[in-house]
Amino acid sequence: MAKVGMVSLGCAKNQVDGERMLAKLAEAGFEICADPSLCDAVIINTCGFIEDAKRESIETIFEFCGMKGSTNIKAVLVTGCLSERYRDEMAKEIPEADVVLGIGKNKDIADIVKRALNGEKIAEFSEKTDLSIDGERLLTTPPHYAYIKVAEGCDNKCAYCAIPMIRGPFRSRTMESIVAEVENLAEMGVKEFNIIAQDSTRYGEDLYGKPVLAELIRRIAKIEKVHWIRILYCYPERITDELLDVVAAEDKVCKYMDIPIQHASGKVLKSMNRAGDYNSIVNLMKKIRAKIPGVVLRTTLIAGFPGETEEDFAELCNFVKEVKFERLGCFAYSREEDTPAYDMENQIDEDVKARRADIIMELQMENAEEFSQKMLGKTVEVLVEGYDEEIDAMIGRSYMDAPDVDTRIYFVTNQDHYAGDIINVKITQVNGYDLIGEEIL
Ligand code: SF4
Repeated sequence: MAKVGMVSLGCAKNQVDGERMLAKLAEAGFEICADPSLCDAVIINTCGFIEDAKRESIETIFEFCGMKGSTNIKAVLVTGCLSERYRDEMAKEIPEADVVLGIGKNKDIADIVKRALNGEKIAEFSEKTDLSIDGERLLTTPPHYAYIKVAEGCDNKCAYCAIPMIRGPFRSRTMESIVAEVENLAEMGVKEFNIIAQDSTRYGEDLYGKPVLAELIRRIAKIEKVHWIRILYCYPERITDELLDVVAAEDKVCKYMDIPIQHASGKVLKSMNRAGDYNSIVNLMKKIRAKIPGVVLRTTLIAGFPGETEEDFAELCNFVKEVKFERLGCFAYSREEDTPAYDMENQIDEDVKARRADIIMELQMENAEEFSQKMLGKTVEVLVEGYDEEIDAMIGRSYMDAPDVDTRIYFVTNQDHYAGDIINVKITQVNGYDLIGEEIL
């Protein structure tokens, strides 16, 4: 049977879609191959969120189209957010690609690969809501952790964001399907379950009449072989006391909360079509820290949103200095067509935006180093990820480190360990963001 490979770009939510497509292809008898260059068909599961991501997706498509003729590759298929967002332009502007699909067609991927390998050129789209948000997956993460996508789409409509128009309205999976998936993956040896959605805190509102993320977390925590549960993509205004109490009370729930804030100035947040202001957000962070001792807070900020004055930016800098997030990423505003912010006045120069984002990350470096220093001498539970030949050390992550976005812990040990083992490590050194330690038996 033909070999199929995939390059999945962008976020973990897109990665889960890719895993569902791979499961359908394997079920149809295709051989799934980790090295796309050795395949007959290659799927580029694109990201179409912001300029940089779009550029990376297009470069990857051309890279693999360019390999046709000199490798086994006979068909290059484009799926994901870029082809969904630019459904009218894609096939015309990238004729090198054999297939261009909307996310609603992911479910037909096996048939479409067959047709493409028979030489058919295909450009097919359907309703965004045809995207299957349940079903088998072929994990592409290391076997000890997985992403659990609990819902698709978004109704928040932040003024700078293209996701609602790419992914459609917010729609939750049933609690039963999520719990069954986690049980199945835990039986397969997955230890860490990262809860994701565009807005995880809205989970269930459409199906059950109110957000029920707290209840879902409690049910997942009851699954014996689950070791860690991590909640990502919380919307600040939807963080309830009930959710905070579950995070605080359940041992299996990582004392870690990812809460993209985007900005701290009430004026800028309002123009972003987001709620809150400096004081309400600072108070929320204080409440979370009070309710969950030792909690690690991650956030994402946007610098250079249209109309952001030097004063607004100064307010954002003060906010970063005051709240001292343990984990923070800041991006220069990306002007995305068809979003409300695209037509806003007072667009800011690219270099000013970039400089502001750099300033925020410099401030964050100080916060991160201060936090790392506090970890010296502490012992933390570590999920072993493997061995780093370059620095001749074992690597792992603690509750403080989400996969793919946060730092890792480097440690020495005289024991044999494999990815997925759970051990204790005493932190003996700090190197910028990185923690270094030794295993404690
Ligand atoms: S919450 Fe806002 S930024 Fe996040 S996906 Fe929804 S609209 Fe986009």
